[in-house]
Amino acid sequence: MTCSRCKTKPVIKLPNSQVSLCKTCFIKYFEKKVRRTVRQYKMIKKGELIGVGVSGGKDSLVTLHILNDIINKQRVTKILAIAIDEGIHGYRSKTLQNAVNYCEKNGIKLHIYSFENEFGISLDNAVKKLKLHPCSVCGVFRRYLLNQKARELKLNKLATGHNLDDEAQSIVMNMFKSGNEVSARLGPITGIKTESGFIQRVKPLYFLTEKEVMTYAFLKGLNEELNECPYATESFRNDVKDVLNNFSEKYPATKYSIITSFLDVLPLLKEKYKNGQIKYCKCCGEPASNEVCQACEYIKLLK
Ligand code: SF4
Ligand SMILES: [Zn+2]
Ligand SMILES: [Zn+2]
Repeated sequence: MTCSRCKTKPVIKLPNSQVSLCKTCFIKYFEKKVRRTVRQYKMIKKGELIGVGVSGGKDSLVTLHILNDIINKQRVTKILAIAIDEGIHGYRSKTLQNAVNYCEKNGIKLHIYSFENEFGISLDNAVKKLKLHPCSVCGVFRRYLLNQKARELKLNKLATGHNLDDEAQSIVMNMFKSGNEVSARLGPITGIKTESGFIQRVKPLYFLTEKEVMTYAFLKGLNEELNECPYATESFRNDVKDVLNNFSEKYPATKYSIITSFLDVLPLLKEKYKNGQIKYCKCCGEPASNEVCQACEYIKLLK
């Protein structure tokens, strides 16, 4: 087998396609796809201050690398990185070190916030006390902190490393569990409307699969270690991921079709839910869907 473009040795067969690419052609293809996504969805404007949410894993480092190295040169934006240390023993400190190393090497300012400092408790201890699923607590606290800190840092947008697999999982998870109003907040640029309390999130890797992101990270030496959160195997997301991966083995277009059909109806969903009332938590003042935000509810339970 040879590269479909230059006939040298291929490193990857693109998912859902007969195309195989060598290292050089794959890197070009990958970066072009990210540039096109950023341009098509007007994710980043000239002069904006962009924060990249980094965990130190492959997706976030690839996002940071491409925005800093490629998009930044074309659009003259300012880039900084934000990391959240949830307090997951034996896992997060290792991945955060990747983020610290990358940012130091590339002169990017990295802001790290921890659950311990901000909420007074690590995720490990919070889940022991609350007897809730770790991912529920983790997701609520992390989203809360990212939005609050992004606002404090006066970011115009927050870029995340969500890829096509992540988005397909979220769409299916919402169908199974949370409903369309939650899905209306998905898409390459999140949010139903730009409320002052919310910092919009953008997903430059939206149209690239996990396999492609992993290959790019490997070829660029961005994340050599494969670390997985010890709580990941127990999660609902993980179950949906397994179903979609198994299905995709037999029907390779599955995840692409989920994304394509979803993007078709997303404008209708955004229109339908655009007048949804955004409330502000009466305890902390952050945007919330109820009188008291979920983070404050958990903090109350922890006390
Ligand atoms: S797998 Fe769950 S607990 Fe682990 S980082 Fe992700 S959301 Fe948090
Ligand atoms: Zn080639
Ligand atoms: Zn609150």
